[in-house]
Parts: sequence; structure tokens; C-alpha cells
Amino acid sequence: MAQIIDGKTISQQVRQEVKEGVAQWVKGGGVIPGLATVLVGDDPASQVYVKNKNKATVEAGMHSRHIPLPVTTSESQLLELIDNLNRDSSIHGILVQLPLPSQIKSSKILEAIDPKKDVDGFHPINVGRLVSGDATLMPCTPLGVMRLIKETGMDLRGKNAVIVGRSNIVGKPMALLLLQANATVTICHSHTKDLQQKVKEADVVVAAIGKPNFVKGDWIKTGAVIIDVGINRLPNGKLVGDVDFEAASREAAWITPVPGGVGPVTIAMLLNNTLLATKNISH
Ligand code: NDP
Repeated sequence: MAQIIDGKTISQQVRQEVKEGVAQWVKGGGVIPGLATVLVGDDPASQVYVKNKNKATVEAGMHSRHIPLPVTTSESQLLELIDNLNRDSSIHGILVQLPLPSQIKSSKILEAIDPKKDVDGFHPINVGRLVSGDATLMPCTPLGVMRLIKETGMDLRGKNAVIVGRSNIVGKPMALLLLQANATVTICHSHTKDLQQKVKEADVVVAAIGKPNFVKGDWIKTGAVIIDVGINRLPNGKLVGDVDFEAASREAAWITPVPGGVGPVTIAMLLNNTLLATKNISH
């Protein structure tokens, strides 16, 4: 039976580390780190994510500014707000919650954020640095996944890592981080042939698909590490991941639960990025 990788506990550890880092920074005369979160519209899931991020920011001793905007906000209005936040010396991290309404082009907004304040790591400059292997601000979810894998004690060198999903937010940056850790990386997507076979060869599986219980237990190699990024709400209200947890637990050595796996660690990494951004801006 697989051991559970407890994202909640790991997240608490990282958050405590960040909190101590903030206290030390401020004690040494550094400015209090400030994170601005922008939410356009009233999507209930996004509201919960942003609320949790704000709460965690304050608990880490940082300053949080939440800016809710109506769903009718225009692209130019949002660009103007970003411009103001870029210039605001009390703000060191800017997070625009995705997805944005259809009248706003996400890429345009992400490109407008000062790369030094880009705590989500989505600006093309930071993406480019991630590709080159010299990034400071990297996407929070893949960073969280790396932290969870670390907890298992697995040395990724030479291991087969299979990522299912190739989004800009999760799959692609995940591949780059695993590559940097010297894993042999396969990225799968909706056109992949023999997906089951590819997953079967994986020492590490990262599932980021967005389909409930999509990865089956008999796809899993015995002893593998399974990281389930997916968050799916079933019609009965229950939250499940992209991996059939019960069945996969019988084959895997380690597995993350949903909820309580990748989600909490993602938030912890955002806080760490905000502290990093503050230090970089201040130097
Ligand atoms: P996207 O919808 O952007 O990407 C999903 C990916 O899954 C795509 O690359 C798609 O392939 C692939 N896919 C879809 N169907 C199949 C299939 N049948 N076989 C193989 N691959 C398939 O999702 P995100 O990456 O943004 O998110 C994925 C999941 O992770 C969601 O449940 C989301 O809620 C969750 N999430 C969780 C976070 C956390 O903090 N825990 C953070 C971010 C996301 P193709 O490109 O070919 O269409």
C-alpha cells in the first residue's frame, strides 16, 4: 500500500520557513513583502483560491492587497491596473487569477506584469529563464510538485518521469523542472498514443489533466511515485484528482491525496516566490 505524501504538513513546513524568512528580512531592515491578487469576475472556485492565497500571505507576515474586478472589466482597464501595481513600491508580487473573461487576452496581461513581480512565473522572460535553467521566479504548482517528490527521498537522476498534460501552467514547466533534476521526461497529451503503456513505464507520474479518476490503478508501475495535480468536483460535490486514488495506492510506493496534496503546497510556493521577489527588487 502506498505511503501518502502529506501536502498539508509539507505546506505548513514551507509556510513556517517563509514566515521565519520574512521576519528575518524585516528585522534586517527589509520592507514588508506585499502581494497583490487580482480577480476578474466572480467564479466561485477562483474566489476560494484567491481567498486562501490572501489568508496565507497575511499569516506569513506579508502584506496582502486583494483587488476584485467586475466580469465586464476591459483589457485596457486591467492593463492600467497592472501598470499601477508595477509602479507601486509596496507591492512586490502581482498575481492575476486565471482564467480571465473572454474579452481579455491572458497573454497580454501576463506580459504586462513586471517580470520582477511575476510571482506566478508566467511572464515570457521568466519562462525563457526557466528553459535556460537560471530562473528565480518559477510557476508555483510545478515547484510544489518538486517539493512533494523531495519528501519521498527519491533521487530523480535517470528516473522515467511521465507528465500527463502539457499546459503552460503545469505540464510544460513541470517537464523543465524534472529535466533539470536529471529525470528522463515524457510529456503526454490528448494526442498521445499508448498513454497507458507510457504511464506504466514511469517511476514518477505527474497527472495534470483535469478529468476525474482518469489514470487507472493498473496503469501504475509497482513502486512508482504518483503526484496528482488534478482538482475535479464530482456531481455529488466530492473533490477528486485525475488519478484513481484507491486503485493506484495498491501499486504505487507514494501518492498524493486530493484534496491535501499539491494544492496546499502550491500556495506555500507562492509565498516563497513573493519573498524571493521582494528580496530581488530591494537589491
Ligand atoms: P488544461 O486543461 O490547461 O490542460 C489539460 C491537459 O490535459 C492538456 O494538455 C490536455 O491535452 C491533457 N489531456 C486532456 N485530455 C487528455 C486525454 N484524454 N489524454 C491525455 N491527455 C489529456 O489544465 P491545467 O494544466 O490548467 O490543469 C490540470 C488540472 O490540474 C485541473 O484539474 C486543474 O484544476 C488542476 N490544477 C491544480 C492546481 C493545484 O494547485 N493543485 C493548479 C493548476 C491546475 P491537449 O493539450 O492535447 O489538449
